[in-house]
This record gives sequence, structure tokens and C-alpha cells, in this order.
Amino acid sequence: MIVEQVWTGNAYRNFNYLVVCPESRDALAIDPLDFKKCLAVAADRGWSISQILNTHEHADHTGGNSGVVKATGAKVIAHKNAAQKIPNMDRGVGAGDIIKVGKTVELECLDTPGHTMSHICLLSRTDQPALFSGDTLFNAGAGNCHNGGHPEELFETFEQQLEILGDETLIYPGHDYLLNNLAFTLDREPDNTIAAQMIENFRNQDPDNALVTTMAQERDVNTFFRLQSPSVMAKLVEDFPEIGDKPNAKTVFLKLRELRNSW
Ligand SMILES: [Zn+2]
Ligand SMILES: [Zn+2]
Repeated sequence: MIVEQVWTGNAYRNFNYLVVCPESRDALAIDPLDFKKCLAVAADRGWSISQILNTHEHADHTGGNSGVVKATGAKVIAHKNAAQKIPNMDRGVGAGDIIKVGKTVELECLDTPGHTMSHICLLSRTDQPALFSGDTLFNAGAGNCHNGGHPEELFETFEQQLEILGDETLIYPGHDYLLNNLAFTLDREPDNTIAAQMIENFRNQDPDNALVTTMAQERDVNTFFRLQSPSVMAKLVEDFPEIGDKPNAKTVFLKLRELRNSW
């Protein structure tokens, strides 16, 4: 499996992806907002885009569909419940469905509500798994729930589907929010030396060649996976005495998500 992360350079800091079968050179475009750049990269490498996967219905993920379809005839795939929101969907998918790319690539669909209620993450069936996480999981952060989502479902998605991923899993999110998210982690957990070091190391990173984190790193620096961290809990209890001395994981997650909204 070849993964090409395409940096859009737009104000929303979107990442688009091409996932390619190295044998057939067939490609799946994930959220190809900057369709011109995606098409140019594919043409340059000799890849042909035959499918599009929208992780969810927001315009900064679907806005490039028609440009790619016009140029390639690619089929549009998204969550089965997004059919009313995404024009000209060819295939609706749900939990456990497989998207094949060429001869060698298989991507499993995870049904991951929270950011919106029709959000798909893709997990590759490769020796080192890769997760294409859309706006559910960001490097060092979690998606917001402002536009059609619910924090409680996002918590359940994190707890039941993301937390269980193997340490070596590579994380490919829909946006580059790494530095802001790390700063939030440090705001909540000032003694997180790994997050502090990561900010130093990647402060001036080139988004065209961005850090790809693993789940092991996420467990270290992503506040939303650090619900049991004594310093995260202590600071939260200080700010919200009403949650008691020993808030459960769900309460911690929901408070962190609420704080991140206005942070
Ligand atoms: Zn979104
Ligand atoms: Zn987005």
C-alpha cells in the first residue's frame, strides 16, 4: 500500500490522501478537496483514481468530489447515512465493510460517530496498520462536535474503537492541527514532557512532509487518550469541583472536549 498525504495549504489546513495499490496503480482518493493537486500528483506518479471516500459530509471533505469525478469517473463512497447530504454517492458503507483498492489493498470501514453522525474512518489491513481518521481523531487531538456531532458518541468512538488500536498504527487525519493540539495538551497537563518535546521538534515542520504519528505517540501526547492521567484529572477537578475527586473517563473526556471548544 502506498499512502500519499496531500497538503492543501488552505486556511482549514486540510490533508487529502491518495491510497494506492502498488501493483495495479489504482488509487482511492480520501476527501480530495484540493482535487487539482490530487489529480496532478496521481498523473505525475502514474496512478489512476478509481474511487473517492468521503470520511464525512462536511464541505471541506466533499468539495473536490465533482472535480475528481469529472476527470476520472471515480465512484463516490461514504457512510450509508450520508446519502442525503453528499450528492451523487455511488456506494454507502457501514461498520465492517471493505473497500478494495486495486489488487492488494483492503481498507476496513469503521463507523465512528461523534464529529458527525455519519463519519467513516478507514483501517488498512497491512502489516503496519494505518488509520485514516478524518475529523474524528487528529494528531494530538479530537474532532469538535459543533456541526452535527455529539460529544458522548465521540467519547464512545474513542473508547470502543480507537483506544483499542495497536500501538504501531499510523494516524492520518483530515487536518493538520498538531501544534494547537499539543499546546492544549500542555495547558491541561503542563508536566507532559513528551508533548513539550514534540512541540519543539515540529514547531517549524513542513506540512508537505508532516509528522505521521503512531497510536503509541497519541497515547503519550493526545489529551483525549489520557483520561486517567493524574495531572489531567487534578487540573480538571480544580477547574470543575462539581465533578468530584475521581471523575470517570467519560466525564473527563466531555469536560476536555468542552474546554477545547473555547480554548
Ligand atoms: Zn468535519
Ligand atoms: Zn474537516
